[in-house]
Amino acid sequence: MALSGLEIYKLLPKTNCGECGFPTCLAFAMQLAAGKAELEKCPDVSPEAAEALGSAAAPPIMPVGIGVGERHLVVGEETVLYRHEKRFEHPTLLAALIDDAEPEKTRAEMAMAASWSVERVGQELRFDMLCVRSSTGDGTSFKALAEEAAATGMPVMLSAGEPALLATALEACAEAKPLLHLSGPDHAGAIAQAKEKGLPLSLRGEGLEGAAAAAAGAAVAGLKELILDTGAKDGAVAFSDSVRMRRSALRAEDRSLSYPPLFFPCDMTDDPLDEAMIAGSLIAKYGAIVVLSGVRPSTALPLLVLRQNIFTDPQRPMQMDEGIYPINSPGADSPLLITTNFSLTYFTVANEIEASRVPTWLLVMDTEGLSVLTAWSAGKFGGDSIAAFVKKSGITDSISHRSIVLPGYVAQISGELQEELDGDWEVSVGVREAGDIPKFLKAMQG
Ligand code: SF4
Repeated sequence: MALSGLEIYKLLPKTNCGECGFPTCLAFAMQLAAGKAELEKCPDVSPEAAEALGSAAAPPIMPVGIGVGERHLVVGEETVLYRHEKRFEHPTLLAALIDDAEPEKTRAEMAMAASWSVERVGQELRFDMLCVRSSTGDGTSFKALAEEAAATGMPVMLSAGEPALLATALEACAEAKPLLHLSGPDHAGAIAQAKEKGLPLSLRGEGLEGAAAAAAGAAVAGLKELILDTGAKDGAVAFSDSVRMRRSALRAEDRSLSYPPLFFPCDMTDDPLDEAMIAGSLIAKYGAIVVLSGVRPSTALPLLVLRQNIFTDPQRPMQMDEGIYPINSPGADSPLLITTNFSLTYFTVANEIEASRVPTWLLVMDTEGLSVLTAWSAGKFGGDSIAAFVKKSGITDSISHRSIVLPGYVAQISGELQEELDGDWEVSVGVREAGDIPKFLKAMQG
């Protein structure tokens, strides 16, 4: 249970030594309570207090790790209902269903899931994992598919109705640390298997009550990495279950449902658009993993873009490094444009410059991730700061002219910038909309 700042303060040394970076123990306690400081920063906290504070500071939804190496995934650890309260910690994972009832079709899909990706604002969007499911009950085909899935390098979930089938498939891929998912009733058997192999486990219970009972059994057995499946067969029920689980964990402080939820939109409808809509609602509201039927970029891409928007940290806008970005192999006489380091702004502008095929220098200025107008209104993209950046950027080593193009939205600072650049530069005003950049650059070329 979360402690208040004053309750935490009572457990601290109260010497106000300042070694934690805060002037008083009370200030440190308040930051701890708000989740903005770490207990390790205080070197003098007693072991007893550390234990008490450590369990109080444990996230309401426990973390679960899946897979190994570079593509190791984590779900859980969420601490808020609404993103603006702090941030969402781990994006909903998109899993592609690989069913042993259609091995040839799913083999092709497995290869596509492993190779398909799209870059957007500097991030790679792709399927996160493969869900290999035994529908036939045939251990041999299940094991063969599990082996092929693990060979793709993607994290894997093994889904079956019986622990014995999971054990068979595990023979082919245990070292990949797959997530085990049991859709049948033998929870004790699956828990024993997960504990023995040190693997994360997902258990299905009927509805929230059944899921809570499954979780209680796992807790008694000492299994820590647990994911819950309420067996929802309908989008509305899944959405309700997901919201109630998060609310219960965070607001009611009810530990019985404090686990990441897993849903199968692929089993809730035959219509791909309905499936995408259900998956989208579960990305928006707390689903930890959603399993999609097959690999359809046309539905996966909008879901991944939605996820990217929802899981961006609101306290840290996505930003580019400040610097000089050459696009289309510019030379000494190529035009010079400037913009801010908000990722979306950068990629929109850079993509249009690239599309124009006009060799161009793009200066990207650090405005703490703010877009052009926001940065200007916050005083971070004015004539004086731009001039200082242009002078220190080193761009004059690369160009023979002294002309710079401002974004059209800040036309009003062109005179100020000209003055701040000591009159050595010609400052012109570009377009307001990125889509007009190619036409603008071609006109500059004459
Ligand atoms: Fe108090 Fe510990 Fe911070 Fe010192 S380091 S001020 S004892 S909380």
